[in-house]
Amino acid sequence: MTSSTWKVGNIKITPIVEVEAGNIIQQIIPNATTDNIAKISWLKPHFVDDKNRLKALVQAFIVQTPDACILVDTCIGNDKKRSEIAEWNNLQTDFLKCLDRAGLKSQSIDIVLCTHLHFDHVGWNTMLVDGRWRPTFPRARYLFAEQEFSYWKSRPEREIEDDHAGFEDSVMPVFDAGLADLVPMNYSITDEISLFPTPGHTPAHVSVLIASGQEQAVITGDATHHPCQIAHPDWPTISDTDPGQATVSRRALLDRFVDTQALFIGSHFATPTAGLLQAENNTFRLVVA
Ligand SMILES: [Zn+2]
Repeated sequence: MTSSTWKVGNIKITPIVEVEAGNIIQQIIPNATTDNIAKISWLKPHFVDDKNRLKALVQAFIVQTPDACILVDTCIGNDKKRSEIAEWNNLQTDFLKCLDRAGLKSQSIDIVLCTHLHFDHVGWNTMLVDGRWRPTFPRARYLFAEQEFSYWKSRPEREIEDDHAGFEDSVMPVFDAGLADLVPMNYSITDEISLFPTPGHTPAHVSVLIASGQEQAVITGDATHHPCQIAHPDWPTISDTDPGQATVSRRALLDRFVDTQALFIGSHFATPTAGLLQAENNTFRLVVA
């Protein structure tokens, strides 16, 4: 399903939705109880349902510049064995057909970029072909923050098995095929597209700044999981490696873009996914276009 396309200067950004994820996102934000959510009226109707349950998505973004086609975050992927989140085990979706329908064959992707290396952001890096994990985008360079890659390569014990499995089946095959570029957290991909650090959710999580002409957009990755964390930047996510640092990064992100014309795009935000940040009562709200 392709919901919409945003234009930022001469750049086009299109979300490609893989699966609905409201239930799972609700479970990983402990403060997002239905009572607490009911108090944030602007979340309705786009980001919560009429019973105050969170709506959310797993989705990727195609960023098309005049010279490059970039895929940001690659969702969960097909055929991946996951033990801790049953809904996402051995997923079967038509994600690649959705890319096709958006006018993009896997051959036309020049760059794949992962904001961090959790398994719901790396899955379509690879696909199962004749029993082996092969790069889905064989013409592309795959960009990973070097520190993020090193962290997961060390197999940190505190992290869940599904994320270790994601690193093994969706990141290492790309690295072993020689398609990975390990880059600094503030790397400029083109004149118009660059990374900047938003650590905490994972140690070297990055967000993506798109600036073309006078216009700007930011793809947050998981620096914000749900717009309720715009109203409450201090609400942690249980999958944060360092919840305190994640809150610091989230606040800095919101402070940077509040009351600007930058389009604020959350990787798990339900459709319409993008909006403008406004200051409200010492905190923030997202106003959809
Ligand atoms: Zn995520």
